Amino acid sequence: AETTPPFADGLIFPLNPDQARYVAAVMRLGEGDEVSVFNGRDGEWRGRLHSVSKKHVHVELVAQTRAQPAAGNAPKLLIALVKRARLEAIIEKATELGAGEIQLLITRRTNADHTNVARLQLIAQEAAEQTERLDVPQVLAPVKLEVYLKTAAETLIYGDEDSTHETGERTIPPMLEALSGLGEGAVSILIGPEGGFDAVERQTLSALPNAMAVNLGPRILRADTAALSALTLYQAAKGD
Ligand code: SAM
Repeated sequence: AETTPPFADGLIFPLNPDQARYVAAVMRLGEGDEVSVFNGRDGEWRGRLHSVSKKHVHVELVAQTRAQPAAGNAPKLLIALVKRARLEAIIEKATELGAGEIQLLITRRTNADHTNVARLQLIAQEAAEQTERLDVPQVLAPVKLEVYLKTAAETLIYGDEDSTHETGERTIPPMLEALSGLGEGAVSILIGPEGGFDAVERQTLSALPNAMAVNLGPRILRADTAALSALTLYQAAKGD
């Protein structure tokens, strides 16, 4: 119901074809049956099926059951493009783990095939429904890392796996330690591609006053594991 007018008592509107088919054919619901409705913008509402046919389902809104959360301090995930299946898994899990937005990135070692942002956005929508989030993270089309960094004003926490291998001791703080010293304000979590950040990117990041490298443990994680590990640690530290 993402393209509806603002939700209000008594609003009657049509579900899109996929939703209509799911409600009528898969869930086999009929007129008068109650459903939970949200559009990622106006909170969650109790609705009643107003008219049901194989192809068309109209819903009447009865009452709001959950208010839309204020845009809190959900972290933005900056993820370098990785292979399609892994990227889709990252989108789904990052949605469950509370990522606010998901910015796709092209880095100097990104070997990405074609990225279908619309499909990734649908995955985020479906994951938000399953995890009962009222807001749906926006998946933002790929931009080059160096372009993004030119205007990034938020705190950038980036995973740097090399810290685990320099002479054995950890030269870069573990993420939870880095988060403990963080004040309020927007935060992005930046994860590199399968090939990692290259020397130029590492140099650029280490020179940024608003960027901090973090360690996600003593092993090299795949990009999808690193993204989920970082989001989980963020959630543990920030409670969102
Ligand atoms: N350079 C790695 C290698 O030699 O295989 C490849 C990069 S790793 C597959 C993908 C990304 O996950 C890295 O760019 C980094 O952002 C993050 N990452 C993986 N393991 C990490 C760790 N132990 N600590 C911090 N970040 C890590």
